[in-house]
Amino acid sequence: MFDVIVIGAGFAGAVLAERFATQRNKKVLLVERRRHIAGNCYDETDENGILIHKYGPHLFHTDDEGVWKYLSAFTDWTVYHHKVLAMIDGKTVPIPFNFNTLHEVFPKSLAERLENALLKNYEYGKKIPILELKKSDDKDLQFLADFVYEKIFLHYTSKQWGKAPEEIDGAVTARVPVFVGRDDRYFNDRFQALPTHGYTALIQKMIEHKNIKLMLNTDCKEIIEIRDGEIYFLGQKFSGQLVYTGQLDELFDFKFGTLPYRSVNMKFETVNEEHFQPAATVNYPNNYDFTRITEFKNIHPTKSDRTTILKEYPQEHIPGKNTPYYPIFTDAANEAYQKYSGEAEKISNLIPAGRLAEYRYYDMDDMVKRALEIFESIK
Ligand code: FAD
Ligand code: UDP
Repeated sequence: MFDVIVIGAGFAGAVLAERFATQRNKKVLLVERRRHIAGNCYDETDENGILIHKYGPHLFHTDDEGVWKYLSAFTDWTVYHHKVLAMIDGKTVPIPFNFNTLHEVFPKSLAERLENALLKNYEYGKKIPILELKKSDDKDLQFLADFVYEKIFLHYTSKQWGKAPEEIDGAVTARVPVFVGRDDRYFNDRFQALPTHGYTALIQKMIEHKNIKLMLNTDCKEIIEIRDGEIYFLGQKFSGQLVYTGQLDELFDFKFGTLPYRSVNMKFETVNEEHFQPAATVNYPNNYDFTRITEFKNIHPTKSDRTTILKEYPQEHIPGKNTPYYPIFTDAANEAYQKYSGEAEKISNLIPAGRLAEYRYYDMDDMVKRALEIFESIK
């Protein structure tokens, strides 16, 4: 009945379902355990009439023209450049930390001296990961690195990951570098925009095809069984492709232990004011148990005398109880992941894809690119 079964209707699952249906004329069953499509990119209009991102703020940005063109077939875009402020010593300042931030936090003469030190050591426009800047042997840069590390990274990272910046993969803190220049935007990518009608509408458009049948509120295990290296669909041997975008440890019944993830308690609040804060997101590295507050009206402008904000409280992930948002990359986790991935490789028609199944920190554009590559690699 179906040539391809796709588990999970996030970006990874949607791209693969769309490609199999439209490019190879395959009959696709798309299975999702939540009550909605779009995975963690899901957005909906709330009781204040504001488009909110249910699983945390999602801002699309890419340098990849191929990804941009591919997605543009399914949505119009509204240009949007995300800006983030960090609350430091009672003052909001722009991050990534850049020359403008220097002038906000230091007296003019010191700010100029640090600016010169950066320009002496790095090219204009360079992005310097904080852990790299900390290794500088320039005295002024050491001072700057210690300041930025202490005020922006140390406590935020402890809240977000339950670990110090040195204890997590350097690529994670490198996402928010010190920037040699005056660009206050959170991202520098060539294409930065929001799907005009939201991510859910975009993904809906991708999977709206006569060859794709969507099944919501259904867990993979209700219809799929893996036994002796074979896949069974509703009790019958399935020899088509099974694209799986959930957690691999869960698929294999946690037989090599659980893979560690970080979860976040997303707490939405209505504020009876027209506006709450001066930027879409304000990070709170040093105070409070939450890491950041996002005000959705600043992302999707809406006329309303109320406003919706989201406070993110990082927490331990408990399988089956809360959402696994971020893989925690440790040597032990990578080793365990390799074992699961080895199990998956033994099943020739099983294709793990996605942030969960590949245990990677993919942004949306990376995810789309990766899913397109996976599709091309399947003959
Ligand atoms: P998901 O979106 O997680 O989709 C997987 C789907 O599979 C889910 O719907 C899940 O319910 C379903 N599923 C899992 N297991 C099963 C099962 N057993 N049976 C049935 N269904 C199952 N990226 C950006 O580019 N910009 C951002 O600003 C940004 N912000 C982010 C903020 C947060 C808090 C997080 C966590 C991520 C952010 N991302 C951002 C990354 C973005 O969310 C991912 O790139 C994208 O969601 C990955 O898509 P996916 O399909 O792999 O995973
Ligand atoms: N980070 C930080 N302070 C900040 C912003 C980010 O320490 O004010 C660190 C933190 O470890 C975080 C990582 O940089 O997990 C990546 O930040 P990003 O904003 O990209 O996280 P995401 O939006 O993916 O949650």
